[in-house]
Amino acid sequence: MTIDKFNFSGKRAFVRVDFNVPVDENFNITDDTRIVAAMPTLKKIIADGGRLIIASHMGRPKKNPDPKYSLKHILKHVSTCLGVDVKFAEDCAKAQDAVAALKNGEALLLENVRFYAEEEGKPRGIEKEDPGYEAAKKELKASQKEFAKTLASYADVYVNDAFGTAHRKHASTAVMADFFDAGHKMFGYLMEKEVTAVEKVLNNSKKPVTAIIGGSKVSSKITIIENLLHKVDNLVIVGGMAYTFVLAKGGKVGDSLCEPDQVDTALSILNKADELGVRIVLPTDCLAADRFDNDANTQVVDNNNVPDGWEGMDIGPESAKAMASVIESSKTILWNGPAGVFEFSNFQSGTKAIATAVANATSKNGAFSLVGGGDSVSAVNQFGFADKVSYVSTGGGALLEAIEGKILPGIAAIKG
Ligand code: AMP
Repeated sequence: MTIDKFNFSGKRAFVRVDFNVPVDENFNITDDTRIVAAMPTLKKIIADGGRLIIASHMGRPKKNPDPKYSLKHILKHVSTCLGVDVKFAEDCAKAQDAVAALKNGEALLLENVRFYAEEEGKPRGIEKEDPGYEAAKKELKASQKEFAKTLASYADVYVNDAFGTAHRKHASTAVMADFFDAGHKMFGYLMEKEVTAVEKVLNNSKKPVTAIIGGSKVSSKITIIENLLHKVDNLVIVGGMAYTFVLAKGGKVGDSLCEPDQVDTALSILNKADELGVRIVLPTDCLAADRFDNDANTQVVDNNNVPDGWEGMDIGPESAKAMASVIESSKTILWNGPAGVFEFSNFQSGTKAIATAVANATSKNGAFSLVGGGDSVSAVNQFGFADKVSYVSTGGGALLEAIEGKILPGIAAIKG
């Protein structure tokens, strides 16, 4: 079922959102992006005359209740955004009466689902290494089903709009979906957009396809790169991780960030790319610094010959130009990870050049561009490029797992 086709009138709809927003010491929301992002789904249900039950986690509470992570703090803001006076259920597992009292067009926010260990299905107060952990986990798995059943009993229909937690098999993100038939479970609008964007890049893509992978370490992105080698025509490698490739190819990295223990992995990636006909684009020059500091002395040097005492902090102008040309002639683009230490103003040029090229490809070449996964999202927001690319993902870890080629439990639970 799709949300657009479903008429929620008179129906009790359980919507799992990601309202895990940052708050300051006085519990004021410092960034409400996630709340705003869920509004199209929530508003559609209210407009249809549905009875809305909103569920989310916040933080990583270790007990029930944990006032620090109460969703009560965000209730007023959710009401304001939704334009409805949202009610509150103090205990998400004992909300039967509050749900029964809901009238058409009304909304109820459940207290943090992670106040129950059953939500995550991960034993608390006992370490993985401790004897008894596995037994505790097994027991919790059984009660997780019961918890999911209770949540499911509140509603006629289940909507998952929490892409940020789609990679977790939690009670409210996946397990409870089993209690609804295919006609009564669906993605929310946000989740639908995310899933479609990933599909468009990985499986439904127009050629040439270019992935730009940056960030600090190869080790954290190996699975992503290995999966992408089967999907892309060009793989642009930037950021600190490029130096492991430089070392693998016999270059000199100076004091640059580098993982010598990953040289074999880098070599096998290069060989595999060769075999598959994927063009690997590595930086040819870099902006090197004499220390890890915004005010360090700098010089542009050959990326394959970084002098001792100097470290590559950003791609150089020649690399930026060559990479822009590859990016601008692409029809599908995926970007994850900055080209340099973009947090320092003097080392932002490369990341800005990549952002510009992605924006140009999108507007001038009609490319579909997806930016996602942590720091590249901060970069496009910071540099004002968020509305110049096709889609900026809201899911950090979830997006990374999706581009690793993993099947996300939250998606599988709905799609089957
Ligand atoms: P990641 O979390 O792996 O996506 O990496 C993001 C981080 O990589 C950012 O904090 C960047 O500052 C850092 N980074 C990017 N390029 C470099 C570089 N050449 N040297 C050191 N750190 C870098």
